[in-house]
Amino acid sequence: MSKIRIMSENLANKIAAGEVVEKCASVVKELVENSIDAGASNIKVSLVDGGLTGITVSDNGSGMDKEDAVLSFSRHATSKIYKDDDLFFIETLGFRGEALASIASVSEVNMDTCSGDVGTHVHIKGGVLDEVSATSARKGTTISITNLFYNTPARLKYLKSEATELNNCVQFIEKLALSRPDKAFTLINNDRVVVKTSGSNNLLKVIHEIYGLNVSSNMLEIKASSDDFEITGFVGKPGILKKNRNHFNTFVNGRIIRNNEINRAINDAYYTYKHEGFYPIVVINIATDPTLVDVNIHPTKQDIKMSKMDVLVKLLYETIKETLYNNLLIPNAIVDEKLNDVKTEFIEPAIYDKDTKVTEVIQTSLDLASDNSDEDNIIKNVSFKRLKLYPIGQVHGTYIIAENEDGMFILDQHAAHERINYEMIKKRFADEEPTYTDMLIPMSIELNTSDFEMFMANKQVLENLGFKIEEFGINTIIIKGHPTWLTKNFEGDNLKSIVDLVITNNRNFNKDRFLDSLAKMISCKMSVKANEHLSLEQMEKLLDDLVKCDNPYNCCHGRPSIMKFTSYELEKMFKRVM
Ligand code: ZN
Ligand code: ZN
Repeated sequence: MSKIRIMSENLANKIAAGEVVEKCASVVKELVENSIDAGASNIKVSLVDGGLTGITVSDNGSGMDKEDAVLSFSRHATSKIYKDDDLFFIETLGFRGEALASIASVSEVNMDTCSGDVGTHVHIKGGVLDEVSATSARKGTTISITNLFYNTPARLKYLKSEATELNNCVQFIEKLALSRPDKAFTLINNDRVVVKTSGSNNLLKVIHEIYGLNVSSNMLEIKASSDDFEITGFVGKPGILKKNRNHFNTFVNGRIIRNNEINRAINDAYYTYKHEGFYPIVVINIATDPTLVDVNIHPTKQDIKMSKMDVLVKLLYETIKETLYNNLLIPNAIVDEKLNDVKTEFIEPAIYDKDTKVTEVIQTSLDLASDNSDEDNIIKNVSFKRLKLYPIGQVHGTYIIAENEDGMFILDQHAAHERINYEMIKKRFADEEPTYTDMLIPMSIELNTSDFEMFMANKQVLENLGFKIEEFGINTIIIKGHPTWLTKNFEGDNLKSIVDLVITNNRNFNKDRFLDSLAKMISCKMSVKANEHLSLEQMEKLLDDLVKCDNPYNCCHGRPSIMKFTSYELEKMFKRVM
């Protein structure tokens, strides 16, 4: 029986007006999704000039007989939906039958397909069927699109440069490959292999094939489940960051999705583990009951709406945060054998470089399994708190060199001290009965009228922390005492900046946000600066305090505080081992 059915008129109306084919990547997307729906395990996309001149997709899927091959180009033909109700239980990727028809109406299409015995060749130009003939058989489908938009000049001019069109296709195929580790994808542009995955059904291997070894060896596995959701995948260590969120690879039931709430949860989980403006690489699949998902809200089907989103977002946030907390290591300095020099992941936050990546992809022969030496170096957070680091000395009055039996450590003294103070202050903020110190010389601050009003409206927050503040004449306040944990050197101008912080935060004053920025500000100002001499005893105290922190790896702004060179890396650097 024919696999392709004609959708009921009613259903056709339910689906928003046809998806617009607007760029080469949308053609690639439709064709490749058809290949997946046809059960293909091997899908090859060949582009000429980024797709502008030609797009060919060939697969080893089930193929079509002559009847289906012709029917597949008619509007509302789909093999995926049989009746209205099915629309809400869609398990396949594409569901709009008209995709192939609309592509065919604005281009020239050659298709060779075979479901077993005799192959069929179909040639269509501008939506008009030109030729149907028998052809030699190879199971699967090969479909070539040329002259895209040749008959719609208005659309033709919306196509971007070759580089942009290619980049869109690459991004799509990479995400798709990450969402389907069980399928082998190849993307070729002008005879150059740009993406290649092996279909090993091993997600970490696909990550390696796409991002290269430096990334794949710095991923942490995540796993969690609740009544409604099951989360699996990998999240990058904060040492490997990107300049944008393009590498938030998120899938729901294997389908690529993009959702702001989910993205925010991922980003928040990395809070203080990274610089603002940098984003981790994550590959996360969320499995859930399809009835909770509504994929129909956007024609590109990437944005989704979901019932119980709040539950999902919380589970995701907590899972990632916990994984980072339990597994984070001090970033190891990496010895790059080819260049024979040392670079650290933080100094070079792996800004995406297409050219480098392409070479990495081509050298896919690197064996993942052989690269587990890294695992020996894993110091879990818990044991980290018992770690003893011995100071050796200071470099440029800014960095501390320390050692223990595992290797050598370099610390940024300001970042480290800032982290210690930040965590101390956050704990003090939670004190029920804050202790305070009377100031020897109370400090009066004169404000303008509006600032004064704004300050008085929220001064209670400071008072709850142990500040003693009184009105002192017109538009003037006087600070008579401060919390005990605030060091003496903090009095003076620094107190003024606390008052300023209350005033600048005044618009939509949010207590939690204010307290966090207050903690950050005070901890920065209270900490040792660069170019400040420290005695060995002071360094030892700093090291002891740092290892006890919940997150000893970054300052409160996400800058790294400590780097490690393992003994092995030192030996490798100096060629004591090969
Ligand atoms: Zn600072
Ligand atoms: Zn900082």
